[in-house]
Amino acid sequence: MHNPRWKAGGRAFAHIAQFHPELTALRRDLHAHPELGFEELYTGRRVKEALQLCGVDEIHEGIGRTGLVAVVRGRSQSSGSMVGLRADMDALPIAEHNDFSWKSCKQGLMHGCGHDGHTAMLVGAARYLAETRNFDGTAVLIFQPGEEGFAGARVMMEDGLFDRFPVQSVFAMHNWPAMKPGTVGINTGPMMAAADRITIEITGRGGHGAHAYQTVDVVLVAAHIITAAQSIVSRNVRPIESAVVSLCAIQAGDLGAFSVLPGTATLVGTVRTFDPAVQEMVEQRLKELCSAIALGFGATATLHYERMYPATINTESEAVFAADVAESLVGADHVVRDLEPSMGAEDFSFMLQTKPGAYLRLGQGTGASGSALHNSRYDFNDEILPLGSALHASLIEQAMPLPMP
Ligand SMILES: [Zn+2]
Ligand SMILES: [Zn+2]
Repeated sequence: MHNPRWKAGGRAFAHIAQFHPELTALRRDLHAHPELGFEELYTGRRVKEALQLCGVDEIHEGIGRTGLVAVVRGRSQSSGSMVGLRADMDALPIAEHNDFSWKSCKQGLMHGCGHDGHTAMLVGAARYLAETRNFDGTAVLIFQPGEEGFAGARVMMEDGLFDRFPVQSVFAMHNWPAMKPGTVGINTGPMMAAADRITIEITGRGGHGAHAYQTVDVVLVAAHIITAAQSIVSRNVRPIESAVVSLCAIQAGDLGAFSVLPGTATLVGTVRTFDPAVQEMVEQRLKELCSAIALGFGATATLHYERMYPATINTESEAVFAADVAESLVGADHVVRDLEPSMGAEDFSFMLQTKPGAYLRLGQGTGASGSALHNSRYDFNDEILPLGSALHASLIEQAMPLPMP
């Protein structure tokens, strides 16, 4: 099944390529049975079964509710080292528009971000590591629930993940449709942005649209806040820094009531930043603009600013190490070492706040469907399963090499 358009080398890849069909079958089975965050019961069962067949040393269930951790010990333990690998397991509330046989069997749920593939890749690494054990230390394989907005990484950590498995470093990867299969992208700093949710509640005085002078018009206030909010990035953020302010939803009045001015309006949106100082400043400016604009019209506006995921920031030496490992598999011309960060977000960021580590992007192409992540026609590209598994496994082997005989 290995596609000849790209090549990967190394012992791990050759070994794992032999069970590519089994990994594909597992991936498609997970795809057919998508589950939302903290509901990954079928997924957890399938992962556990697969890990038992792989012969891993320990399987720990129920860490962070539906999370699992597998432990594989290397043939030597003299280093005393422990390294973590993480895969996310959850799906999205999207109605799938694919027609293949492994299409979601659940109405309104699909694996639209490829976490089915990430899970299968880590199972593939577990099997290879358990079969070969060519490393000196302990591999900790983290199957994490609830990446899509549930902060499952943080929940696993709050449940003692790193107290029970005190890894020295931790690595994760995400498939990336904009990059070709057989390529890997990484950088030594921010990979993904911090994601914050903003809710702006505006209160005025409703009334008859014909007698607007008797009202405090919240629709007008909302319009001014929306326009002014877009001045923050262009006028307050230094041009060489990055930030996005998006107001994505507005709720006011009733579409059937053409002459009724509502008394309240709500705006919902997101702020994306890399630097905590920029994040702080955007929050402050939003708060000031909301209250000052509302005051100017005789209304009130309250900003609820919720910090959801911090920025995903690789530590330098682990990122360089991971890039070297990727290079050993696919060659220097297939590794982008200065990958541009994305304004998307990722809860692996919580793990990187406490542990050195790196987050990589694994090219998968847009496939037959030509679709991006979170699209109803997206599908994980099974072609890259052995490469993802081999990359995980090689991070372990090269972080904890066997002592010279
Ligand atoms: Zn996603
Ligand atoms: Zn994802």
